[in-house]
Amino acid sequence: MADLQKFLGDRCLTVLNIPGKGRSLFTARDFRPGEVILSQEPYICVPNNESRCDGCFKTNNLKKCSGCQVVWYCGSSCQKSEWKLHRHECIALSRLEKEKRMLVTPTIRLMLKLYIKRNLQNDKVMPITTTDNYSLVEAMVSHMSELDEKQLMLYAQMANLVNLVLQLPSIDLKEIAENFSKFSCNAHSICDSELRPQGIGLFPLVSIINHSCSPNAILVFEEQMAVVRAMENISKDSEVTISYIETAGSTLTRQKSLKEQYLFHCECAGCSNIGKPHDIEESAILEGYRCANETCTGFLLRDPDEKGFVCQKCKLLRSKEEVKKLAGDVKTVSEKAPASPSAENKQDAIALYKAMEKLHIRLYHSFSITLMRTREKLLKMLMEVESWREVLNYCRLIVPVYQRIYPATHPLIGLQFYTQGKLEWLLGETEEAVRSLAKAFEILRISHGTSTHFMKELSEKLDEARAEASYKLLALKDACNDDN
Ligand SMILES: [Zn+2]
Ligand SMILES: [Zn+2]
Ligand SMILES: [Zn+2]
Ligand SMILES: [Zn+2]
Repeated sequence: MADLQKFLGDRCLTVLNIPGKGRSLFTARDFRPGEVILSQEPYICVPNNESRCDGCFKTNNLKKCSGCQVVWYCGSSCQKSEWKLHRHECIALSRLEKEKRMLVTPTIRLMLKLYIKRNLQNDKVMPITTTDNYSLVEAMVSHMSELDEKQLMLYAQMANLVNLVLQLPSIDLKEIAENFSKFSCNAHSICDSELRPQGIGLFPLVSIINHSCSPNAILVFEEQMAVVRAMENISKDSEVTISYIETAGSTLTRQKSLKEQYLFHCECAGCSNIGKPHDIEESAILEGYRCANETCTGFLLRDPDEKGFVCQKCKLLRSKEEVKKLAGDVKTVSEKAPASPSAENKQDAIALYKAMEKLHIRLYHSFSITLMRTREKLLKMLMEVESWREVLNYCRLIVPVYQRIYPATHPLIGLQFYTQGKLEWLLGETEEAVRSLAKAFEILRISHGTSTHFMKELSEKLDEARAEASYKLLALKDACNDDN
């Protein structure tokens, strides 16, 4: 712990024990938006599905490990760098019967790697450092005592499988089960620059940082390294917070997912407003119905006489029956709509989701999360069929909703502007493209920094679009002069 405090102290950070919250990370100086607060390589990590390189998570040119036939590599350099750990895992997996190997999920593999690494560090085969250290894993919270019987049974079964694979003489089943519980509240999903999940990893230092629904910092990944950056000005002696969940949703929705996945009750500034007029309004906008008058933007609350829902702006009543009928129609369509359409039925799926979008527009408020999710789905499918003009239209519909539900510097807004800018450029709307790409850069430099390959690419695109826009302008001026 003294080592850790020194390590953090050198970075102007400190760990404090806060009653009711446990270990919490605090600043010992001011941090500006975009500044790196903390970064850490994973203690252990695994890709989230079989067809990714175990070293770098890339998906191309993969070859299976000839030993275990379970793990993939993109080439000899990744295989070599992973061999110290995988050597032991490979032997253990090879012993397993074929059908048992199918049971080895990413979470099970994470546990195998955890024990293999711990042993290698104990045997001094792998070095122990202040931040790459099993004792930091031991310090993580597990919430074991709050788990229900079903969950405990599942962890016990998973621990048995780990035991069967590893066959270590000194392994403690109860401890493995407790570590699974630790994984469920501490393991981080490792995402690429566009926030698409690639794998899972354990980052014990990052795990010290507590959750807030309106956090002052953000966790992103550069390759597999976790990087926590300030999203806003953070003054000295403040607690650093990140969000553990997708924050889009009402306070109740957020609290439910925090309770289910992380087993705690959030008491952040946003959550302490629950039930206050502003919070009720926000919930009704994000998750409620639209006004019966199509030109009205008011939000609806349940009518005290139980007749339906009343618009808080124009006082118009929307009957329970009408809402029920529409909700029924939505259900019928959504039952037909495939969650992940195959290549052949993509056009049918698009048509179904468009029908669903139409119903959502009639039923929900224009800032509804449900409507937004349907549009996100449509955007993705239209991108796959390269219907660029339509994709651009959906981008423009989604951005304002993101701007309402996420903090101004949230990377999802930046990424959406990036997509929008690329499409505008592609479709010849150069000036709009410059505006969108500039906004994307302005936002993403806070969460992503400026030095990664991803950000350099964005910055180059912005420069090119600017050059093209000014060239177009010159050409236009020349044409005007010629006319005179
Ligand atoms: Zn690789
Ligand atoms: Zn292998
Ligand atoms: Zn909260
Ligand atoms: Zn109204």
